[in-house]
Amino acid sequence: MRKFTRKDFFKGIALGTISLPIMIRSCAGENFAQQQTSANIITQKKYKWKMVTTWPPNFPVLGEACTMLADLVKKMSGGRMEIEVYGGGELVPALQAFDTVRSGAAEMGSGAAYYWAGKTPATQFFASVPFGMNAQQLNAWILCGGGMALWEELYARFNVVPLLGGNTGVQMGGWFNREINSMADLKGLKMRMPGLGGKVLERAGGSAVLLAGGEIYTGLERGIIDATEWIGPYHDYKMGFHQIAKYYYAPGWHEAGTALEFFINKDKFEELPTDLQQIIRSAAQQINVWMLSEFEAKNAIYLKKLLEEEKVQIRKYPKEVLDQLRSFTKDIIAEICEEDAFSKKVYASYKSFADRATAWAEFTEKSYYNDIVM
Ligand code: CA
Repeated sequence: MRKFTRKDFFKGIALGTISLPIMIRSCAGENFAQQQTSANIITQKKYKWKMVTTWPPNFPVLGEACTMLADLVKKMSGGRMEIEVYGGGELVPALQAFDTVRSGAAEMGSGAAYYWAGKTPATQFFASVPFGMNAQQLNAWILCGGGMALWEELYARFNVVPLLGGNTGVQMGGWFNREINSMADLKGLKMRMPGLGGKVLERAGGSAVLLAGGEIYTGLERGIIDATEWIGPYHDYKMGFHQIAKYYYAPGWHEAGTALEFFINKDKFEELPTDLQQIIRSAAQQINVWMLSEFEAKNAIYLKKLLEEEKVQIRKYPKEVLDQLRSFTKDIIAEICEEDAFSKKVYASYKSFADRATAWAEFTEKSYYNDIVM
């Protein structure tokens, strides 16, 4: 049995217990200080937070982003704030991260909003919608198009504050041992595919199997699943899927640019001085840019590796299949909006933004890729 190890690639960044000098700030001149010594010595309060994550410990990119955020916050706060990062299962099971933060047992968490669709379905619009917006568009909607206010309103129900925490970019369509030439090839297909994408696959006659990251390789090897999606060339290479699957399909119609998130207990966040609040927001913004850039850089390198060294066969989903899957997606979203008023409100905002962004991209991004790029 093959074990998924990442040690060769990334050194674990363990947050040690570093004792820091107590910061003393004097806000008065020397003479004044002599008169009011005790009043002028302000010992700034230190904060030690826990971050529970949905990622395996030291998981490339997604887990790294959490330790990077902790490091940034510590540096920017001059050591006033330390965040200890826990991988999934280290403090609580991965998918209990949200409830752990909600209760205040940990102050902060990292995940993807669609993991919490079982609590309330509108969360998934803040992570990924099949055939939906790409990373650039989703960032634009959330940060500059009204998405964040809706996300904050939704998470406030759980006493949690959301922050964008990165994006995978367009993912790959997955690993198969048979070609997908028509919808008939999806019938009976057992595929690891989470979220709305999984629902779409089921409507096509397949079955969506949920397996945690560490179980996928052996699941595929032993035939528990026939196919799997994961992320893109960089992560997929490390998972070793090319060793047990014949075809690598593109594109990831189910995840066109999945947003990752940090979530913070609202009371704990509001207790922080405003400068520390802003430091966390700024660090998350930095991670948001870093992660998409990291995926973009590494995926290109590892795609080349998969093609040239591993002789992986890339296939594209036929248009007929994508058209049918898109149609199923629309039906499923309409059903969700029918049943849940907040989903309807969020999707109305998402869809009107997406329509405008697509019309704009027609003459810019799309035209550039199709006609102009060298
Ligand atoms: Ca995926």
